[in-house]
Parts: sequence; structure tokens; C-alpha cells
Amino acid sequence: MNKKTIEDINVSGKRVLVRCDFNVPLDGKKITDETRIVAALPTIEYLLKQNAAVILCSHLGRPKGEFNMKYSLAPVAQRLSEKLDKKVVFTNDVIGEDAKAKIAAMQPGDVVLLENLRFHAEEEKNDPEFAKALASFADIFVNDAFGTAHRAHASTEGVTHYLPAVAGYLIGKELDIMGKALENPARPFVAVLGGSKVGDKIGVISNLLEKVDTLIIGGGMSYTFQVALGGHIGKSLFQADYVDFAKEMIEKAKKLNVRLVLPVDNVCGQEFSNDTMRITVHSKEIPDGWEGMDIGPQTQALFSAEIAHAKTVVWNGPMGVFEFPSFAVGTRSIAQALADNKSCISIIGGGDSAAAVEQMGYGKLMTHISTGGGASLEFLEGKTLPGVAALNDKE
Ligand code: AMP
Repeated sequence: MNKKTIEDINVSGKRVLVRCDFNVPLDGKKITDETRIVAALPTIEYLLKQNAAVILCSHLGRPKGEFNMKYSLAPVAQRLSEKLDKKVVFTNDVIGEDAKAKIAAMQPGDVVLLENLRFHAEEEKNDPEFAKALASFADIFVNDAFGTAHRAHASTEGVTHYLPAVAGYLIGKELDIMGKALENPARPFVAVLGGSKVGDKIGVISNLLEKVDTLIIGGGMSYTFQVALGGHIGKSLFQADYVDFAKEMIEKAKKLNVRLVLPVDNVCGQEFSNDTMRITVHSKEIPDGWEGMDIGPQTQALFSAEIAHAKTVVWNGPMGVFEFPSFAVGTRSIAQALADNKSCISIIGGGDSAAAVEQMGYGKLMTHISTGGGASLEFLEGKTLPGVAALNDKE
């Protein structure tokens, strides 16, 4: 990474504004998954060790620019206090009187967490005055929110116009691991793509085809490819507008000598529910009235064999409707194949595949699970992330 990090700047005794991704799932006031809090700790702990005064900020959910107690970061302040074993002062506003007073009272080694940035519509609008107000709290800005690095918001891009801006450890780690996989992968390099719609993943498919040795496509998006190959898919997920794109990608794979591997059998349901009647059929012969909802046993074996001899695997998107246990088998088989291949670097793009891997208990067996769904997808598309681009270059 050619961006400055927290280790390239003197933070000692300084006020440091850190953009974190504390967008954690909540059940009322209870945090149901603290992964994102844990992921932010190395940067915070480093800054405290350097005797900086640490001002943390984040968004949580989509409060649409208004104060809404449901999206308060107060539970995060509480959990962070426990994790750091230190008082985390929480401010009841973002750039108002309470934040100003509590920040003015800070000493080196203190931690303050600001209330949800998205209680101000100016945050997502990247409003310069709002960015300036945030910047006025600190001497240095650290971006460690990989999950929002693909958005140019006031707290990710705007503030960098007013403060020296560097990357935290989490952003550094995400970019190092995924950057290396894309630029200089240990081979064979296999990408596994799934999820619902081809339309959402055209950039990723196209970019990864130029990098990988093998591209595996499963999940809802595979049916559009089956149609492109003349298959019959019953009432499976299908995007007619993308059949030509699928054909183009099949040709591109041939030209680039990339193995494009599609399902050979699917588990289909009559209705979109866990308890529906199920049949397993050839992927190109799904009967009318049936919907492909998972990859079948032959496909699981086929995909697992590809993963077994890979040295790098990037996986984004489930193989089926994994939220229904009856159709989670295919997705679990990919996680199992990755866990079984001990000599492979396994990278899980955030979002649903990360949730599936964690939920199925394979989290600790993967090399890296990205904390950013949208951001990792854009990175895999080869796009520049504005929150990263805005940071200061290394000299
Ligand atoms: P995405 O957000 O595009 O990664 O898609 C994730 C969603 O795709 C999950 O909610 C899955 O339930 C859904 N999905 C995967 N395979 C299928 C399928 N065969 N039919 C319908 N939905 C699917």
C-alpha cells in the first residue's frame, strides 16, 4: 500500500480522530456480533500506547439524517469500554456542545466516542462544513473503516482536506491481503462467486476473469449463465438482461484460458421456503414450476475438488439460499473445502458469505474475512476506494 499509516506519523500526545466501522448488528440495545468492534481494537490500542487522545466516530445503520435512539452508538461505547478496560466517554451529539465540551476536556490517553455520524444528513452528502467541524476536533485523521471506504462521505473523504490523513491497521490489513491476492497471488488462484444477481456482480466477474486460473460461479446468478448455455431453469432466479453478458464472459474465459466452472446439478424447491418439496436435477434441466435453491451433491464435489488444489481462493456470495437450513448445504461445502485445504490463502468477501462462514462456525479457519461487503466487492472489481485514495501518500 502506498498510503501512509499510523506508524508513519507522530501521534504521541496528539488528538487523533479515528473513523471506525462500528456498524454492528443490534437486537434492541444488545450487540449480537462484535466482530467489527474487535477488528478496530489494534488501531485504538496502538494510539493509546503512543499516548494519543483518541476521538472515535462511526455510523450505525441508516437513520436518514435524523436523531433516532434506535441507532445510537451508546451500546458500542459500553462494549468498547469493556474491551479496552478503560472508560470510553460517549458524546450525546456529533459536533454539538456536548461533543465540544467532552473533547475539550480530553487528556492524552483518553477515549471519546462521538454519537452516530449519520444523525447528520451532511455526513453522507460529504458536506464540507460538517467535515470541517469534525476535523476541528483533532490534529490527525486516521481512517480505519474499511466497510465505508468505498463511500466519499464527510468522515471518510471530507475530513482529509483539513487534516493529515493516514490508514489504520484494519484498512492496512484488508488492502494488503486482498491487494496481494489480486496482484501477485499464489497459484492456482480460484474465485468462487455466488449470491443472487448477476447484475450486481458484473464488474467483479469481468475483473476477476483477468486474474484467476479458475472462476467458479454458483448461487442465484448461475442460472443466467445456464440459460446462456441453452439450459432450462424452471422458475429459478434469472436476469434476461444479462444473458448476453454471461455469453460474453463465457467467451472471455475461453480466450484467457480461464476455467469457468458452473454447477452440474441443483437442489430445487417448489416454493421459496425451507420446508418445500425438494428434488435434485441436472442444472440445465430444471423442470417448470421448480426453482434452483442450492448446488447439488455432484457440484459440491466438483467445486470442492477445484478448491482442494488451490493456493489462493477469494469467495464472494453464497451458493444457495443459505438462510434456509435445507438449502445451506452447498454453501457449507465451500466453507468445508476451504477449511480442509490447509495450504491455501482463503479470503472471504464481506456481506452474506462472511455471515454464512461465521454462522456455520468456520470463521477461525479462514485466512481473512473482510469486514466490508460493498467495499471488498468494489475492491475486487478493481475500483479505487475513495476513502483510501484520499489518504496521504507515502513519501
Ligand atoms: P448477494 O447479496 O448478491 O451476495 O446475494 C445473497 C443472497 O443470495 C442470499 O440472501 C441468498 O439467499 C441469495 N441466493 C443465493 N442463491 C440463491 C438462489 N439460488 N435463489 C435465490 N436466492 C439465492
